Amino acid sequence: MPTRRQALALLLSPIGQRQESRNDGRRPTQRIIIAGGGLAGLCAAYELGRLGHDAIVLEAQMRPGGRVRTLRDSFAQGVSVEAGAARIPNTHDLTLHYAREMGLTLEPAVPPELHTAYHVRGRRIVMDGKAEDWPLPLTGEERREGLAGLRKRYIEAALQKVRERGFARDELAAFRDWDRPTVGAWLRSEGASEGAVELMTLGMGPEIGSAAWYLMYSMNLAGVRESFHIQGGNEQLPRALAARVNVRYGCAVTAIEQTEAGVKVIARRGNGIEVFEAARAVCALPCPVIGPALDGARLTGAKMAAIRSQRYSRSVKVFLQTRTRFWRAQGLNGSVNTDLPIERLMAGTGETGTERGTLAAFPIGAYAAELESMDDAERVRTALEQARRIFPEMGREFEGGVSKCWGLDPWQRGAFAIHGPGEIGNIATLARPEGRIHFAGEHTSRWTGWMQAALESAQRVVREINA
Ligand SMILES: Cc1cc2nc3c(=O)[nH]c(=O)nc-3n(C[C@H](O)[C@H](O)[C@H](O)COP(=O)(O)OP(=O)(O)OC[C@H]3O[C@@H](n4cnc5c(N)ncnc54)[C@H](O)[C@@H]3O)c2cc1C
Repeated sequence: MPTRRQALALLLSPIGQRQESRNDGRRPTQRIIIAGGGLAGLCAAYELGRLGHDAIVLEAQMRPGGRVRTLRDSFAQGVSVEAGAARIPNTHDLTLHYAREMGLTLEPAVPPELHTAYHVRGRRIVMDGKAEDWPLPLTGEERREGLAGLRKRYIEAALQKVRERGFARDELAAFRDWDRPTVGAWLRSEGASEGAVELMTLGMGPEIGSAAWYLMYSMNLAGVRESFHIQGGNEQLPRALAARVNVRYGCAVTAIEQTEAGVKVIARRGNGIEVFEAARAVCALPCPVIGPALDGARLTGAKMAAIRSQRYSRSVKVFLQTRTRFWRAQGLNGSVNTDLPIERLMAGTGETGTERGTLAAFPIGAYAAELESMDDAERVRTALEQARRIFPEMGREFEGGVSKCWGLDPWQRGAFAIHGPGEIGNIATLARPEGRIHFAGEHTSRWTGWMQAALESAQRVVREINA
């Protein structure tokens, strides 16, 4: 019987280590072409390489990491921001594991003693454990319970039911009872008032996705006490993985085809075309950029339909550089959820040796599309105007800003998968291998929206290939 420490070490040991003994020379090594050099593709290549396979990653851009991207150039010395993945919750074991395995240093994303705030109907409410006075149409009981009480009554109770419905055995099937209604419709059907619905969905809106998707998101944050950030920027993680695998940059995959005998992956590089033949292929591309690349892949209609219909948030981040991190002096960590169109402000995590900081307006719902229709300067002006309503200090603190629109990025066309009513089962369809083609990426995991999703999907693909 292993001790708790040994059991944890086994659980957190890299998949390659656990499977190396099974790949003892009797199993033939294979050539595998991986489309996409985000965390999913890179991690799959890393683990396949450790098992002796010949894995080649084809990445369209000149850099690895996809949606994990640290920006420095537009900011003052010592300031950097995360255009994509910013925080690693302490429960995301795979992300923490790979960061440590790559020798990277984890640091708290924000000082844990500081508080998150809300800005609703022009009023600030700080989540510091004191009584909350929400300017929303709540019932007397909801008002007494506060936000934590509402979450307990609706979300934690539903998550307990999800666990009782076999979450440990089949993670997706356990959410099926919540798959039909939107999150707003479900909360109303449970008796929540309009004010309570608004409060519990602040920053995303009640119609953003199904109740199942919302509960899955909540499950992925259950038990989180603190969040981490990689010293020097989260981009260090894909860079460290990329340094250990064979990546061909500037190789845009245009087609993945398969026969009984093998796969053919066609990529555009510069003015030419390259053809790679291999035993298997891994498609680690986000759904919106797959386009016609799988048309000759002999996939089922269900798989193609799931890829084509997958919705994504078009999240935008508008970064506002400030002279100081003035919110900290007010006991705040810079995370503010609001009923203003920008939905939320988030403080940067990457300042070293400077007083300066950043606040990012970060809408994930409908307003992101509106921001996309503006130019960069207009996005910054709009975000600043709303940030000033939350923090009047922005008038003197603001130094400049830049934005990142994930929906406009030609290699992403979206930020993360969102599942609407009736769509939770798509995750299993998106993940299923078909013939010699395997599927990895954030959208194929229940951890959808997190780096953990990409890493978990990579480990699944390695198990499929090495079975
Ligand atoms: C705004 C935002 C905030 C986020 N916040 C967090 C957070 O705080 N914490 C967290 O853990 N996660 C967060 N995430 C999620 C996390 O970044 C992703 O889940 C994860 O990085 C996805 O990795 P992936 O490998 O599946 O996909 P990607 O990173 O999208 O990788 C796909 C790769 O494929 C490449 N590609 C595209 N087309 C082609 C082609 N034709 N040929 C070859 N290559 C191609 C792309 O260039 C890209 O490198 C956030 C994401 C966003 C966008």
